[in-house]
Amino acid sequence: MLDYSVPEAMRAAVGIGSRVRVPVRTRLLPGTVIEILEESEFAKVRDIAELLDEKPMIRPSLLELARWMSDYYCCPLETAVRSVLPVAVRDGNVGAKKQNAVRAVRVFTEEDFEAIARRAPRQADALRVLTQEPILVTEAATKAGVHESVFRTLEKNGLVVIEASVISRNPYSERFVAGAELTLNAEQEVAMKVVVETMAKPEKPILLFGVTGSGKTEIYLRAIRHAVDTGRTALVLVPEIALTPQTVERFKSRFAEMQDQIAVLHSHLSEGERHDEWHKIHNGTARIVIGARSSIFAPIENPGIIIVDEEHENSYKQDEAPRYNARDMAVLRGKQEGAAVLLGSATPSLESWHNAQSGKYQLVRLDQRVDDKSMPVVRITDLRRPTRNDPEGGILSRALREAVEGRMAKGEQTILFLNRRGFSTSMICEACGHVCQCPDCSVSLTYHRAAERLMCHICGHSSRAPKVCPKCSDPKIRYSGTGTQKVEEALKRIFPKARIARMDADSMTRKEAYRETLGAFKEGRIDILLGTQMIAKGLHFPNVTLVGIVNADLGLHIPDFRAGERTFQLLTQVAGRAGRGEMEGEVFVQTFTPFSPSIQFARHHDFEGFMEQEMEFRKRFDYPPFGRMAMITLRGAVRERVEFSAQTLSRKLKAAAPAGIVVGEGVPAPLEKAKTYYRFQVSLRGPSSLRLSRLARSTLDALPMPEDVFVAVDIDPLQLM
Ligand code: ADP
Ligand code: ZN
Repeated sequence: MLDYSVPEAMRAAVGIGSRVRVPVRTRLLPGTVIEILEESEFAKVRDIAELLDEKPMIRPSLLELARWMSDYYCCPLETAVRSVLPVAVRDGNVGAKKQNAVRAVRVFTEEDFEAIARRAPRQADALRVLTQEPILVTEAATKAGVHESVFRTLEKNGLVVIEASVISRNPYSERFVAGAELTLNAEQEVAMKVVVETMAKPEKPILLFGVTGSGKTEIYLRAIRHAVDTGRTALVLVPEIALTPQTVERFKSRFAEMQDQIAVLHSHLSEGERHDEWHKIHNGTARIVIGARSSIFAPIENPGIIIVDEEHENSYKQDEAPRYNARDMAVLRGKQEGAAVLLGSATPSLESWHNAQSGKYQLVRLDQRVDDKSMPVVRITDLRRPTRNDPEGGILSRALREAVEGRMAKGEQTILFLNRRGFSTSMICEACGHVCQCPDCSVSLTYHRAAERLMCHICGHSSRAPKVCPKCSDPKIRYSGTGTQKVEEALKRIFPKARIARMDADSMTRKEAYRETLGAFKEGRIDILLGTQMIAKGLHFPNVTLVGIVNADLGLHIPDFRAGERTFQLLTQVAGRAGRGEMEGEVFVQTFTPFSPSIQFARHHDFEGFMEQEMEFRKRFDYPPFGRMAMITLRGAVRERVEFSAQTLSRKLKAAAPAGIVVGEGVPAPLEKAKTYYRFQVSLRGPSSLRLSRLARSTLDALPMPEDVFVAVDIDPLQLM
């Protein structure tokens, strides 16, 4: 942050959020005005050189939100302001940019493509995505999976024309058919009535608690419609992972007549696309915004409703400063803008459930699946019982295999879920006990068979898989733990005729792969879809009647008081993918801990039973939502210095802490080393997050840290590793 003076001539126009050009040493650099002071602490400040926009880029209400965030989440105002204004907008030029667009000079046939492919396969790929309608070169390159220069070559060969033109980059440029409005059932009618009343007079946020398939999305769509019909706008947050083409399509098709007025924001957009979508919102064209976490800062005006789907999702929490939770920001923004706030989930977070119980939120329930469809039957397989004469039993139990078989015979589909990618999770030497560890992180390396490599899932480190133990050279090395690649291999062996697709971070590296695979699954060209959390949420495939959870225990044994809650949520979400059509669904849960409460309550679809028991536990230990928490993490390359700093910090915090705030010791983080850095933590517990934040700030401000020790403060942390 630097201070500048505002020249007389600019006084009227410069406001907070104005983008300017300012002198820095000998250069002129772009910047954003984040505060207007009466006077500076510095004796000599230079003038702003140029004002770039007529109107400030940040609306006052968003700036207010940034200030609040800076205080609550203990981060510099500058950092908070950055997050309400995307990079593409901060640095980019305003308005539609002229960009290079490309079109084919004529219609090419399959024979043409093949002829070209014989000498230049990339050129053929590139040409295939074109028609005689111009599209942006950047977009075409992404679509074709080729470098932009390929289009230049095609141009030289006279096959395409490239010209500068103004085209808005539309990441979802298909045609949409208007989706029909359904007749609401009785429960939905009640829910809608509350939504409409709240939109007229927003007082409390609504928590819409509805089992999977109960028609929550229908309520969202109606609420948006109501906002638009009453001349207002709507903001919809969905978890990044659920921001599938399927979800977006569902929203877009309902509002087919106003395609241009819908903006979609998510992390896969190119900078250019993001820039376009943002301006569509900023200039008032967009009246419906759908997006992931950071869309909560979309500069939409006059929102009538702010919807947060799957409000319990961890991905609403940003994992770098400002470490805000978009769900909580939604509640705040709604209050500020006079918008109704609708939080929806089949498995609300304990925080929101607590707020509903205490009357801070209004609770609206959808207890029945639409059309009285029953909830899927959940069967538990106890993996502890050894299965003799069943070599495949360790991965898929006999019962689950028979169930998959049965589905294939009937032409129905199966989803198998395992939240762990790779082939085996560790490599152990049977002779000396050596486990291959990442040199830079305190985790074992995962074996990826296709690439014959060991990889670190924290930092991405990758090395050739050894043939003998790297320590004692014994060849008896064993791979243990099951990842999606191993399951895929087993599936191919067990069901040689099945059409199988795997969806995880390794198989979905191409931008288009995700929608292609889901498209194929939807059209019935895949029998078994195997995947990680990528497939756990938001998917709606009526022909899926079987869901298998390969190992339900993965998240249970991590050192985090939310482990049980997360497992319950995940099991419920995944199970909810089954039986969404006419046919009944069945779910198999494989586990080594069949009697753990998360698994038992999920099995009986007993959310409230689970909540009751979990609340009891949280209350006893004063964990959130009862007590509040902050986590300060220090990291650095020299272990002793990090440790010493953490201990010093803990001591200073203890000395400064008022009664009621409990400060933890400076201890190693559960993930003690990541990306070459040693990590130590100090936890704070107390009745108010804001007080924890202010204590952290004042103590840290007064405590000089070694230059190579970095500090991160996380208020209301969701991730304790
Ligand atoms: P949720 O979001 O709670 O999982 P959805 O809104 O996806 O549930 O609804 C599940 C299915 O039921 C969807 O196919 C949806 O189109 C359909 N549906 C929702 N409401 C109704 C209704 N009132 N009448 C008929 N079908 C409905
Ligand atoms: Zn690593």
